[in-house]
Amino acid sequence: MNDYEYLLSDISILKGVGKSLVNKFKRKNINTIFDLILSLPTKYIDRSIETKIKDLHIGKIQTVTIFVEKYNFPRLRNLPNKVICSDDTGKLDCIFFNSYEGYIKKILPLKKYITISGKIGFFRGRYQITNPSHVNTDKNKIKKIHSNYSLTEGISDNIFNKTINEALNNLPKMNEWLNPEVLKKFDNISWNEAILNLHNPKKEVKEKKYINRLIFDEILSTFLINSNIKKNFKRKKKIPKKINFDLSSFVEKNIGFKLTIDQNRAINEINNDISSNKRMFRLLQGDVGSGKTIVSIISAQNVIFNNYQVAFMAPTEILAKQHFNLFKKIFGETSKANLLTGKTEYKKRKDILKRLENNEIKIVFGTHALFQNKVKFKKLGLIIIDEQHKFGVNQRKKLSGKGGSNCDVLVMSATPIPRTMMMTLYGDMDVTLIKSKPKNRKEIETYTKDINKIDDVINFIKREIINNNQIFWVCPLIEESKKVDHQSSIARYKYLTKIFKDKVGLIHGSLDKNDKDQILEKFLNNKIKVLVSTTVIEVGIDFPNATGIVIEDSNKFGLSQLHQLRGRVGRGTKQSYCILLFKSSLSENARKRLKILKSSTDGFLIAEEDLKLRGYGDLLGFQQSGQKTFRLADPILNEDLFILAEKEINNIEKDNGKLSKYNSLLKLYDRADIVNELI
Ligand code: ADP
Ligand code: MG
Repeated sequence: MNDYEYLLSDISILKGVGKSLVNKFKRKNINTIFDLILSLPTKYIDRSIETKIKDLHIGKIQTVTIFVEKYNFPRLRNLPNKVICSDDTGKLDCIFFNSYEGYIKKILPLKKYITISGKIGFFRGRYQITNPSHVNTDKNKIKKIHSNYSLTEGISDNIFNKTINEALNNLPKMNEWLNPEVLKKFDNISWNEAILNLHNPKKEVKEKKYINRLIFDEILSTFLINSNIKKNFKRKKKIPKKINFDLSSFVEKNIGFKLTIDQNRAINEINNDISSNKRMFRLLQGDVGSGKTIVSIISAQNVIFNNYQVAFMAPTEILAKQHFNLFKKIFGETSKANLLTGKTEYKKRKDILKRLENNEIKIVFGTHALFQNKVKFKKLGLIIIDEQHKFGVNQRKKLSGKGGSNCDVLVMSATPIPRTMMMTLYGDMDVTLIKSKPKNRKEIETYTKDINKIDDVINFIKREIINNNQIFWVCPLIEESKKVDHQSSIARYKYLTKIFKDKVGLIHGSLDKNDKDQILEKFLNNKIKVLVSTTVIEVGIDFPNATGIVIEDSNKFGLSQLHQLRGRVGRGTKQSYCILLFKSSLSENARKRLKILKSSTDGFLIAEEDLKLRGYGDLLGFQQSGQKTFRLADPILNEDLFILAEKEINNIEKDNGKLSKYNSLLKLYDRADIVNELI
């Protein structure tokens, strides 16, 4: 049996863990023994220091050895039983509610010295401990450090501790996977030692080294997998594609603007990849509105020139359609481009599938439906995935397997994230950044406004409509006990309809896809002037005619999310506005956050500030990506460990390191399904 097998077993194999307990643990996402032992104590209670009665601290948990003097068991039922105890410095009462006299006499026998531990109270001038739970004639038998876990309904502290210790009893000795030089940085603490110490510390665990060892393992395993995806991707040689260097100027003529320096640099980097004999696996990252689409379209056309096919995937149908239209606009209706979405009717779909298989269609735009098995390409040379943060690593891996050995992959994302997260989420890819935005843009003007002054906002909208401009009105999604509540957007829609009549549209999450697309389509065609929505409009659609976005209860959104929303406007040449509405009682923190947004339009800076104020779990894209976040590691707090892991990965790569050493590590941590295919 491999050392990890026990750890990956279901907790039901543990003694005393029946069906009902299994279900309760499941609610905490604890399924395997590994899950269980990675649920580390949230705090420790120190019972190690013994005190004399005169030195007791009220309100603290303390341990004291007392002499049992006398019982005071009142006849009246609703009065508690009392045991009067003492040491040579003072007196202390043990108070028992709902305990039988027999039990009390057993644990606190008369005229004996007993060690007890509990929270110290004070009542009518005397120290007391109520319902003491840690009582023993042998003081060494009182557990010195008690581990407290984050409990869930139905699992008591006692049962949690027992179950964990049951699991720890059979802990296999894991073979060390860390290299000696790295291990030294953690004082040579083994994985076993770290686990045992964190659950049952001998002294209160003040040292970080135990937990750091475990955090490092978690980061390293993630990076190892990334590194291997990358290696696998590049291992197979592909046929280099030729580059048509006149393409950019041709495109510039057709779209009526010049490419920015960053766009040209991005095109160059992609060209280098495409024309090399290694497969491209590249992330194109740039803030909202930085102009990634045109870069990807130029790359697509280059690949098509080489008689390959291109699959262009977007997260929504409407976005796929928008990209499709742009492509046709530049290269003409005759460009063998097609759109394949859930809406494509049966006959047409069949025809498209057939022509894809024959290499008659050169580029197909669509949603993730593009990657169903039914869709077969004859000669796929490039996969482009827009708004990558919506797709997890597993999906990414699956897609990249689609194209065969000559297929390059380009993904695009507008979510600015700090470096540690970048290494985690995209460590398997090369990265190109677009930092600057097209020069013709006017800065979006951002205002904060009290909802009481809504009339000002209405007047602003009236003016914009007269100038033939359009407005987004965003309401937050209120999620209460899993029931998604769209009431705020529906109510706002009704309110605005009274003023603007049929010029208002509404989309929210409960609408079906067709209805949603229809309304977006209407907005795109300028038939609707004001679009009320929850955050569905977040994802990359280009509405150059929208000049205003009003965000209600703006303090309820994350900063990065607000920034993304704001990026929906200001895409044309007209002056655009973002109005952040709030209810008058804003917290200090909320004020700070809105101020950051008002004073900056730099997505990276905003993301970093957002992280500092909210913690990484809330950052846009991370939770939504469907990827599991770390159990222990925190990309902000553990930055040093991320950097150390990055160095170690470089060493392992240089070593042409064999993965077999890390077999157990990789099996234990998430994404083990990928590992199977790699080793
Ligand atoms: P994103 O990077 O968010 O995907 P888009 O590719 O949708 O951004 O581009 C946003 C808008 O900017 C589009 O309307 C596009 O036509 C325009 N645009 C792109 N590049 C330039 C440029 N170099 N100069 C002027 N406008 C540009
Ligand atoms: Mg985009």
